[in-house]
Amino acid sequence: MIVILNPNTDESSEEFKETWDYLNSLENIRTQKHIVQGKFQSLTEIYLFGDTAALSKEAIEVLPAVDRVVRISQEYRILGRHKDNKLSTGFNYNGVHFDQDNLNIFAGLCAVDNKEHVEKMMKALKENGQVCTRMGAYKPRTNPYSFQGHGKTCLPYVFELAGKYSIKVIAMEITHESHVDEIDNALEKMGRPTGVMLQIGTRNIQNFELLKVIGRQNEYPVLLKRGFGITLNESLNAAEYLASEGNANVVFCLRGMKTSFSEPHRNMVDFSVVPAIKRLTRMPVCIDPSHSVGSREADPKGILDVFHATAQGVIAGANMVLVDFHPNPVKALVDGPQALLLEELPRFLEDVQIAREAYEKRVKLLDKYKVKSV
Ligand code: PEP
Ligand code: MN
Repeated sequence: MIVILNPNTDESSEEFKETWDYLNSLENIRTQKHIVQGKFQSLTEIYLFGDTAALSKEAIEVLPAVDRVVRISQEYRILGRHKDNKLSTGFNYNGVHFDQDNLNIFAGLCAVDNKEHVEKMMKALKENGQVCTRMGAYKPRTNPYSFQGHGKTCLPYVFELAGKYSIKVIAMEITHESHVDEIDNALEKMGRPTGVMLQIGTRNIQNFELLKVIGRQNEYPVLLKRGFGITLNESLNAAEYLASEGNANVVFCLRGMKTSFSEPHRNMVDFSVVPAIKRLTRMPVCIDPSHSVGSREADPKGILDVFHATAQGVIAGANMVLVDFHPNPVKALVDGPQALLLEELPRFLEDVQIAREAYEKRVKLLDKYKVKSV
């Protein structure tokens, strides 16, 4: 059961105390509090776990701070939408807002290789008005002899340059809980010049112990990538692991599915499920066209498949784009063949904008052609 409090309820108010004390006095019920940060207001949600079937919805609805009560289904208890389209969503992190209605672009390096490339990337982002990026320091590689990422040694210059070029959020994959401490220590030492969104890759999505540890911290939001060989339901349950441990600031990322039928792409592009994830859960949905497509192939007019896949995800309502760029892809140590060039950044951003505007126009059509729901 989710108890949604009146907007902007102050936790030191009498109304809150009375409500909180009542909920905590219920027998065999455990409570968990979460603040949903909308663009204009914050909403406190209190989740009730345990023997909730025996509770009276009406008795809770009359408590002074309560706006409404939603009975939830067994699945995705915290992150799920539970057939209630009004359940709000979203969080702010380091000055950037994430929800199911807006769009953030994370263009950057798949893997940090050297300081010069990081600086060129960040400079290009700033010149194009971007405040988010991706930077891989810890790389999970299929081949044990492949470059594994520079790890903590690159963090000082990555964070310093992020500060220099006003980057507010870096999506950075972690493959072990110790990496969070390394990131946290490096940021702390440097006075937190930027923020980090912890990325859990497709290979680690069912590393439940890692999910639990990352879910127990609230400092950093999480970008969780769909498992490339498991069902959507299994991947969404993995996201719920993070929320059930306390961190519901999760963005869910589609990155293509592994199948021999994906050719000519690296993975089967699965961006058609963007709307389904928004229907099933309240998480903002990210698309990763680079790891889905995996090449720089283009159509006869010259529009790259990566651009097309991005547009397909954005026109379906995606809320975040994670995309590989590199100043010199031939020299890239990881995934060079799928990287876009810095010269392509302005056109990429404009192309995304066209798809986003088309999505917004499609939403407006709903009002123009309003039909009674059936
Ligand atoms: C990545 O984003 O660099 C990556 C390794 O992605 P995935 O986990 O989707 O393979
Ligand atoms: Mn990669």
